[in-house]
Amino acid sequence: MGGVEEVGGRGGRNPVVSLWGHLKAVGTGLKYLIAVPRMTVKYPDEVIELPDGYRGMLIYHQDLCISCGLCATICPANAIKMYLPSGGGGGEGGGEKPETPPKRHPGIDYARCIFCGFCVDICPTGALEHSKVHDAAYERVEDMLYRPEEFAAGPPTVEFERPPKRLRPVMDERRGISYEPVG
Ligand code: SF4
Ligand code: SF4
Repeated sequence: MGGVEEVGGRGGRNPVVSLWGHLKAVGTGLKYLIAVPRMTVKYPDEVIELPDGYRGMLIYHQDLCISCGLCATICPANAIKMYLPSGGGGGEGGGEKPETPPKRHPGIDYARCIFCGFCVDICPTGALEHSKVHDAAYERVEDMLYRPEEFAAGPPTVEFERPPKRLRPVMDERRGISYEPVG
């Protein structure tokens, strides 16, 4: 296919312009390394106290769930799927057809979730809510998938080697934002 000209491709890049861009980037990094005030905190030695309404990992109250599937339907990231009871898997059920089909319950894939909160908003029974957990780390992407039983057990507890200093963000005329110790 002809007629398409590469714009800004690597081949046409002026090396002087490229070097200048890199030097500017390094300069910016050095400036914020040395300059105070900084707007970041020294996680995990310091953590920010999160406000109410923060959209962290989800809490699923299975006892309130009516298996309507609205959470899975509304999810824009396809992070929630409805699962048959253990052994049934997600999506299509298999095996013999019981007289009364078993209810499905939601499971979540945190590798997909964008923490938009649509599922919480649409749930008609309040079976979903946000926690403030946002800093769980996983070694394997498969571990980010929570089937209903795991989902109902709640988000993981984040462990710190030392108790972190808790900070609250406050508005600051000069810096825009600064932090004060909590408690
Ligand atoms: S918070 Fe948003 S992306 Fe995450 S599971 Fe709920 S609807 Fe899907
Ligand atoms: S968690 Fe809420 S929206 Fe999702 S299936 Fe259960 S009742 Fe329906």
